[in-house]
Amino acid sequence: MKITAVETVPYAIPYTKPLKFASGEVHTAEHVLVRVYTDEGLVGVADAPPRPFTYGETQASIVGVIERIFAPQLVGEDVFAREWIHGLLHRTVGNPAAKSALDMALWDITGQSCGRSVTELLGGHTDRMRVSHMLGFDEPRRMADEAQRMWDTYGITVFKVKVGRRPVHLDLRVCRALRSALGDKAELYVDGNRGWTASEAAAALREFDELGMTLAEELCPADDVLGRRWLVGQSRIPFVADESATTPAEVTRSLLDGSATAISIKTARTGFTHSQRVLFQCEGMGAEVVMGNQIDARLGTVCTVAFGAAYAASSRRAGELSNFLDMSDDLLTDPLMITDGTLAVRDGPGLGVVIDEDKLARYRQDR
Ligand SMILES: [Mg+2]
Repeated sequence: MKITAVETVPYAIPYTKPLKFASGEVHTAEHVLVRVYTDEGLVGVADAPPRPFTYGETQASIVGVIERIFAPQLVGEDVFAREWIHGLLHRTVGNPAAKSALDMALWDITGQSCGRSVTELLGGHTDRMRVSHMLGFDEPRRMADEAQRMWDTYGITVFKVKVGRRPVHLDLRVCRALRSALGDKAELYVDGNRGWTASEAAAALREFDELGMTLAEELCPADDVLGRRWLVGQSRIPFVADESATTPAEVTRSLLDGSATAISIKTARTGFTHSQRVLFQCEGMGAEVVMGNQIDARLGTVCTVAFGAAYAASSRRAGELSNFLDMSDDLLTDPLMITDGTLAVRDGPGLGVVIDEDKLARYRQDR
């Protein structure tokens, strides 16, 4: 089956409330819908969410690199020659979201061609994941209210708390408020998005430990090499590398260097193919993983749960699967339902999604 065309559609859908964290804030989902067409009529689809403050990609750069560089290389290639195709993409450095969307669209086609879901193709471990909800910067009481609302409405009991503000006390107040409002039955963990120095983070870690936080993510920059290693060495909870370990090589370096003891996997930046490599690498090295969220829309969330549910190691912890709840609308015809704190994998084949063409026409930015 040959690739006949690759289409990119930039679109914008506002969030109902801005999402704020130490490395930036997001008001509108300005993503790129990527579709791969084949000579057998099957069409693969995936979403590319640009994160300029983390990876340098923008909506325009994703469209540009796919249209000008990747599409001309891919047209005429065999859909199933995945490793060959990755060799072609690998000639261009960077551009993780653009490459990942192409990879996931190809997996979507592969699933459709054999009538199986992507989860079944990848590993088929289970059919759902527990959901973790991310709480962005706000006043302690409002963050506790949001967490309680998520618990009451969706049964979510796992929360990732964004930290990394100065002074450190601001975030410690939030964490104490959440623990006292939600009690011991809630699982809480923190993500600093590199907002603190190593010594600020060390002070916070002591209290995080007392509050029963289960993970600490990117509390200080990994580029502060010795400070970061010093911090991780004294952490009693797993220390997660997220944006500092986005390739198999970076994952190896952070684990061997002692700058992390666990890894966040995001299908939006490593697709399915390289997420597999990262996961297997972590299993081999004895490091835990958590399925992260690149502020994904529904389509990106479908991809995260499709991958996470495929393996025991990636479905053990709750996955970050709820950011789409804050979007005012979406491109998929069917809603995603979080019930009893879990999100089910879509029934296949492939990713099992249908794009609503009327909504795409309404939100697209190129016409
Ligand atoms: Mg993170």
